[in-house]
Amino acid sequence: GATIGILGGGQLGRMLAMSAAQLGYRCHIFAPEADSVAAEVSADFTNAHWHDRDALNTFAAACDIVTYEFENVPVEPLSAIPQNMLAPGTRALEVAQDRVSEKKFVENIGGKPAPFAAIDHDSDLAPAIDRVGTPGILKTRRDGYDGKGQWAISRADEAQGIRIPASGSVYEQRVDFEAEFSVILVRGRSGEVRFWDSAVNTHTGGILSHSELPAPAIVGKQVKEARALAKKLAEELGYIGVLTCEFFATSDGPVFNEMAPRVHNSGHWTIEGAVTSQFENHIRAIAGLPLGDTASTATRIVMDNLIGAGALDMTRHLSDPAAHLHLYGKSEARDGRKMGHITRVG
Ligand code: ATP
Ligand code: MG
Ligand code: MG
Repeated sequence: GATIGILGGGQLGRMLAMSAAQLGYRCHIFAPEADSVAAEVSADFTNAHWHDRDALNTFAAACDIVTYEFENVPVEPLSAIPQNMLAPGTRALEVAQDRVSEKKFVENIGGKPAPFAAIDHDSDLAPAIDRVGTPGILKTRRDGYDGKGQWAISRADEAQGIRIPASGSVYEQRVDFEAEFSVILVRGRSGEVRFWDSAVNTHTGGILSHSELPAPAIVGKQVKEARALAKKLAEELGYIGVLTCEFFATSDGPVFNEMAPRVHNSGHWTIEGAVTSQFENHIRAIAGLPLGDTASTATRIVMDNLIGAGALDMTRHLSDPAAHLHLYGKSEARDGRKMGHITRVG
C-alpha cells in the first residue's frame, strides 16, 4: 500500500493515521514536537523543524501523498516537496493562515464575515474600533487557535496601550449569534463534494467544548446557504480533502467566522455517528478513492471535549457503557489542553 505523510503531530494527525491504517496505508508524521501523539500510532519524523527543507524533502521521499493536520505549517519551505504530492494544495493554507486574507477571500465569493478592519500598527487600532464599532474582538492575524491571541473590547478606551504584533491583527465586530455551527465537507479528486450534518457547537473560554445533533432549527434553516459558500470556497481553492467552515447563525443569516483546511474538532462525532468519518473520508479523498457516505447514523449525537487536568478520569467516563471514549495520549494535562473527547450516539 501507499504511504501517507502528515504534517503536524497532534490528535488530528493521530486520528487520521488510525483511519489510514484501517485502509491499509502507512503514515509518516512530520512534527516539531519530540513526543507527538500522532507518531505514537505511526512511523515518525519528530523533533523536526518546519523550516528544514532537507528534512521535508527526505520526509516527502518516504511518502506517496502529503497532507496536513495543522493549518499553520509555514508555506514557504513546502516548496521542498513536489507540489503534486500535497493535498490539499498550499493555496488553502495561505488563505486560512491569515484572518484578513481569509475574510477577504470569503467576501470575494459572496460570503459575509463580521464587519472587520485589518490592523498593521498600534496607531491603526483606535480608528478601526471607531469604524467597526463596539463591542468587538481583536484577534492576531496569524497563529491563533482555541481563542488564543484574542481580546474582547467593549469600549473604545479599553484599546489604549494594546500592542499590535509585527504580523498584524484584525478587529471585528462581536456577532450577536443565536448558535454556532460548522459546515464540514469532503471534496474528492473528481470534484465530488459531500457534507456531514451540521452540529451546534458550544465554546467555553474560546475552546470548543461540546457539539450536538440535532442542531436547533435556526441552524437547519441556514445550513443550505452556508454549505453553498463552503462548497464555493472549496472549488475556488481546487481543494482536495476535508474542509471546515465555522459559522454564526444570526437573525440576519449565516455569518462566516473562519475556515480550517483540515479535519476539525466539531467533526469528531463522525467517527461513531456517521457512516464514514471525517478522518476516513479525508484519507479516501487524498488517496483518490471513492468517498464514503457522510450520513449520520442516529438523530441524536453528542460530543464532549475532555479539557485540562481532571479530564482523564477513565473510570468515571466509562461508567456510561454507551460512551465512546477517545484519549489522545498526551503526557501532560495542562489547563485548556484538549486531552480527549467522548461521543454518545442515540
Ligand atoms: P479555533 O481555530 O480553535 O476554532 P480560534 O482561536 O481561531 O479558534 P475563533 O474561531 O476566531 O478562534 O473564535 C473562538 C470563539 O470565540 C468562536 O467560536 C466564538 O465562540 C467566539 N468568537 C470569535 N469571534 C467572534 C465574533 N466576531 N463574535 C462573536 N463571537 C466570536
Ligand atoms: Mg481558528
Ligand atoms: Mg474557530
